[in-house]
Amino acid sequence: MIPYGKQNINEADINSVIEVLKSDFLTQGPVVEDFEKAIAGYCNAKYAVSVSNATAALHLSCLALGLSKGKLAWTSPNTFVATPNSVLYTGAEVDFVDIDPNSYNISFDELRKKLVEAKAKRKVPDVLLPVHFSGQSCEMEEIYQLSKEYGFHIIEDASHAVGAKYNDKPVGSCEYSDLCVFSFHPVKIITTGEGGVITTNRKDLYDLLIRLRSHGITRNPDLMTKESDGEWYYQQLELGYNYRLTELQAALGLSQLKRLDEFVLRRNQIAERYNILLKDFSIKLPTVLTKNYSSYHLFVIQIDESKCKKSHKEVFSDLRKNGIGVQLHYIPVHTQPYYQSLGFKIGSFPASEKYYAAAISLPVYFDLKDSEQDKVVETLKVCLGS
Ligand SMILES: *Cc1c(COP(=O)(O)O)cnc(C)c1O
Repeated sequence: MIPYGKQNINEADINSVIEVLKSDFLTQGPVVEDFEKAIAGYCNAKYAVSVSNATAALHLSCLALGLSKGKLAWTSPNTFVATPNSVLYTGAEVDFVDIDPNSYNISFDELRKKLVEAKAKRKVPDVLLPVHFSGQSCEMEEIYQLSKEYGFHIIEDASHAVGAKYNDKPVGSCEYSDLCVFSFHPVKIITTGEGGVITTNRKDLYDLLIRLRSHGITRNPDLMTKESDGEWYYQQLELGYNYRLTELQAALGLSQLKRLDEFVLRRNQIAERYNILLKDFSIKLPTVLTKNYSSYHLFVIQIDESKCKKSHKEVFSDLRKNGIGVQLHYIPVHTQPYYQSLGFKIGSFPASEKYYAAAISLPVYFDLKDSEQDKVVETLKVCLGS
């Protein structure tokens, strides 16, 4: 089976983890700090906070921006459930904004329309979580303008988009957001096994995030409510969590980060090759907007059932039967039973549902060989039956 995604681990990665195993610190040591500095440097952001996974990163980001009972956040229905779940963890409410049928990202027009209506009802969101689907940034300049006009904060869910660029600047620079979240799950662009990072330019949020990922505890006397009792002393200032990344994971991440540009370049080459090889197929190919350099976490095609002898479901299962490990990203979150139980209705975000009925993610990863890609293309041709 050719999978839809796969990590690449080399000798240098392995040796960097072994070195940590032989060192004094397995967690809360110097490599985590080095990794954070390296990510912040890569993204051109002032600060980076590493955590145990991107779901934890989203949760802490929501908390840091004050989400709690009575507050509201919006996101895209075309995302992994972790994005809206992280809002619900805080006790806040979540709602969705439908997607753009070309980029599959949150639709700027739908967002503006929904904001106008929300303002009239005095229910403007406190936070927006745009998701950079498949590795291409949302229209952040325009969204940022709206955030100033309507007064909401922005957390970028860039789980797919480490190594991507927007307006020639790295995603994660937080030029148009308060916080930006990356995932280092093995299926993403670079990996730490499990892991996530939050980047920001705001010192206040950075200090808070550092405490929240480690029980809400500080050892910094400047932040304490009274004079320190002694050198052993710490204070808990908030209800935090144990969301720390280990030294082993940070070492792997630091080593992987060195090859990030190479990974993303190869993914772009694969995407370019798909675009050429598939151009005469009766399918819809991905659209990358001009301001974007995508990290191509995913290469999504859409089946046109009117031009194809088989249904979307049949094409998908035929591909799997013939050794192509396709996937579908994503089932619109509002259609999940849990979200249904919260009152969301099928049909309320039609563009995301229409997309879901047609989408298939083809294999794209650093080690995918041209010959394997050719097999994907040939198999797809047969499965489409056209
Ligand atoms: C993978 C992913 C997450 C969650 O990442 P984890 O590191 O597995 O917690 C969140 N949002 C999106 C869009 C993702 O793809």
